[in-house]
Amino acid sequence: MGKKEKNTQSHGTELSPFESMMKRFDIAAKHLELDKATYNVLKSPQKQLIVNIPVVMDNGELRVFEGFRVQHSTILGPAKGGIRYAPDVHLEEVKALAAWMTWKCAVIGVPYGGGKGGICVNPKELSKGELERLTRGYAKAIADIIGPDQDIPAPDMGTSGQEMAWIVDEYSHIKGGYTPAVITGKPVLIGGSEGRVEATGRGVMVATLAALKTLDIEPKKATCAIQGFGNVGSVSAKLLAQKGLRVVAISDASGGYYNEHGIDIAAAIRHTENNKKSLRGFTGGKEITNQELLELNVDVLVPAAREDQITHANADNIKARVIVEGANGPTSADADDILAAKDIMVIPDILANAGGVCVSYYEWVQNRQGLYWTEAEVNQRMEAAMEAAFERIYKIRTKYKTTMRIAAYIYAIDKVAQGLKLRGNL
Ligand code: GLU
Repeated sequence: MGKKEKNTQSHGTELSPFESMMKRFDIAAKHLELDKATYNVLKSPQKQLIVNIPVVMDNGELRVFEGFRVQHSTILGPAKGGIRYAPDVHLEEVKALAAWMTWKCAVIGVPYGGGKGGICVNPKELSKGELERLTRGYAKAIADIIGPDQDIPAPDMGTSGQEMAWIVDEYSHIKGGYTPAVITGKPVLIGGSEGRVEATGRGVMVATLAALKTLDIEPKKATCAIQGFGNVGSVSAKLLAQKGLRVVAISDASGGYYNEHGIDIAAAIRHTENNKKSLRGFTGGKEITNQELLELNVDVLVPAAREDQITHANADNIKARVIVEGANGPTSADADDILAAKDIMVIPDILANAGGVCVSYYEWVQNRQGLYWTEAEVNQRMEAAMEAAFERIYKIRTKYKTTMRIAAYIYAIDKVAQGLKLRGNL
């Protein structure tokens, strides 16, 4: 089996990310007694585009990169979601990520559907020039299906403001006029929003405090472990520490670092800034593995790395009281029941990390009205939106006597199903 082919299959007994998404979808659909026709519309992506992008590398060689853009739904508004650069991105993963965006936008209450994109590339192996040519090539290849009222990409793993800047530039050249609202997560100077870079981590902080409140745990007495130290993990760590939580462990691909007195997060961030974004060699904590980090005896665990970190293989060893999903899909569906039986509260990705797309929406609104807000204004609106969303989902959880995850799916699927009925596309 070729590499690509293998990537589209489930790994061993684990479900693929799309199957994991569908398993929760099915449970929520049953609670809602969703009719068959609506179920069939919502279960499959509306549009899937696969592109091959030829790029002249610095050594003159021509390489071809595979890229994707999936629009899961445009029922409640244009598709919305990030672009991921990773060597093992595959269509099944992008499909799951696109569907999660549909549910996430519904949960946080922004008027969008869901989409996602990706390129099979390890961005760390490319020079800046190669990355720019690849990104512009991708923008050209998907230009027909994106747009401020069609599909609005944003950053995700492996991409940041620079890639967004190249895409908005390329798209604007194609359209013959500056079109900032085609993409969010842009640098502030060219139409990005204040507060966007920190938005996902800030939202994770708000969700964590809300969860601790329901459990009567004081933030200042709580300990926390964070897996992943990219944009989401590092900002979550910084803001949670500011709120008084003791962040005893952090990690990235180089491994984990544990300090029972609390990691100096500012020192860890400085370390990554001077060390090609890596925690490798960080001396502010004893070295542990990522696996050990997940199984630490802490109050809060924030998986902010990638899919399928908590699975049926390790769920039984998790000791945290609350899991706040900074990443998309870090818990496989097989682990849900094990965590629920252990009475661990899981704040699902489609709620916990919705702060990012929430501020993306504010960026798009600012682009369209041509009037820009202060960072305080952005943060205050987003925090209020996160608190309201948490409250909504918590109430549904109580009503249906289910988990926060299934409650979030129930809310989102019901909303999109109602939108479908109103628009009459059945
Ligand atoms: N990639 C982020 C996510 O998974 C942000 C998407 C967006 O802002 O559109 O939520």
